[in-house]
Amino acid sequence: MNVRFLALGLALAAAAHAPAQAAERYWVRDVAVIPADTDEVLSHRDVLIEDGRIRRIAAADAQRRVGDARVVDGRGKYLVPGYVDAHAHIATEGAIRDSKDPAIKGLDLGAQHAYDRQVMLSFLKAGVTGVANLGGSPGSDEDLLRLREEIDAGRAVGPKLYVGKRINGPRAAVAEKPDGQPVPASKPEAPTTAADGIVAVQRAKQRGYDFIKPYQFLNRETYQAVVEEAKRQGFITTGHLPELGCATCADRAFAFAHPMTNLAHTEELARFARIGSDLAPAEIETLAKAVADSGLSVTPTLITLKTIVAMYVQREVPAVPKGWLETVDPVTRLEWTAPANRYLSQAFRDQEGADRFSAGYDFSRVLTRALWKRKVPLTVGTDAALPGLPFGVSVLQEMVELREVGLPAVEVLRAASINAHRLFDPQSGSGAVREGERANLVLLDADPLADIHNAAKVAGVFAQGRWLSIADIDRQLSEGEAFEQELQRQIEQRKAAAGS
Ligand SMILES: [Zn+2]
Repeated sequence: MNVRFLALGLALAAAAHAPAQAAERYWVRDVAVIPADTDEVLSHRDVLIEDGRIRRIAAADAQRRVGDARVVDGRGKYLVPGYVDAHAHIATEGAIRDSKDPAIKGLDLGAQHAYDRQVMLSFLKAGVTGVANLGGSPGSDEDLLRLREEIDAGRAVGPKLYVGKRINGPRAAVAEKPDGQPVPASKPEAPTTAADGIVAVQRAKQRGYDFIKPYQFLNRETYQAVVEEAKRQGFITTGHLPELGCATCADRAFAFAHPMTNLAHTEELARFARIGSDLAPAEIETLAKAVADSGLSVTPTLITLKTIVAMYVQREVPAVPKGWLETVDPVTRLEWTAPANRYLSQAFRDQEGADRFSAGYDFSRVLTRALWKRKVPLTVGTDAALPGLPFGVSVLQEMVELREVGLPAVEVLRAASINAHRLFDPQSGSGAVREGERANLVLLDADPLADIHNAAKVAGVFAQGRWLSIADIDRQLSEGEAFEQELQRQIEQRKAAAGS
């Protein structure tokens, strides 16, 4: 590391770790409040934010004495709940350290967490004040557990993090056609027995994870044990449905009889609606009813499917919304390009049924609408940073997807906020813009109920009660540019060395 880079890293660290000012108070003056737990809009309100909470929502009063509070001008603006990405895989320094890719492995990230800081800021730039991480590498999970503490304590700026532990078995445990390979011995890291599944959940509890992500290669008994033990430990579960069609697999009735709390993709249900290799549209109502009856909530992740279909059809990563490619760090960009991007690989194209991925997207859209009609709670999730889906803005893209399958704008806002709070964090309030609730909020320049695209017109956010205008966020992001350039330089150097 060169000296200039080191000095910069230290300066960033000082900024990132500045303690939260004691007793931060703000008055947002004369703003339209959209609480989002009902359909109402409260025009011309003054809102007091204090110590991370919404203390008061009162009729706007030009004579109001604000004392030492900071004033945020809300005139012509809208105050809505902060958005939550209910399905992300956050890129972290820990993940880079764990990477086996020689193009990434061992990159010098400095010691000051500048990389993680940029990622956190990109969420806030889009109004995303909460993110659920659905499992990563061991180093990535450790990094996020640490970041979660830093952010909760006000020592770092970022969204509220919910860190999930993925529990999965070996693929061979649920192989439809066993290829003669023995199933590896069960262990808590890859359980094939109920006992090891239970140990895996208990370890996650001890380590301080927020929720469990059961994954699809768990066999029947292990899947059930993980779901049940998670419930006993007070965890919610959001993940994949079990595999179908092998001797140790769950079947459809079993999966709905032992439901997780939340299903992490509608695409999972498409797997449950295949007759042979074809999707059966007639299954949509059957599945929607099974989901509703089992009490599952769902994160549709339509933008994820749309993006994968686009990569298949166009053989390139689709353009990201204007101005957002700049927020994607050099390592993630590298992972979006061939050969790291598996969606651009020949192996991906050669999968059976690949030419019908578009139909899967259509199916998921119609199914999402059927779920909504049956009042299944929906949340906004993206699978970012899947290629083409930057952190932050992809939440806004998914909000548009949900609007397009028929949800009214206020219900889209609810899916992006209140429904996620109810899922991940029910003990700390409803997530609505109401007195007493935690101040994770977005101030918008235009009315999101008139056009959901306005949910992207972020004037600033309250992240755990701390105000950051969009200018503040952009300035902090630009402070990290030199760090990103240095990272880019290291990557280019490696490319050149590999080419020579
Ligand atoms: Zn995922």
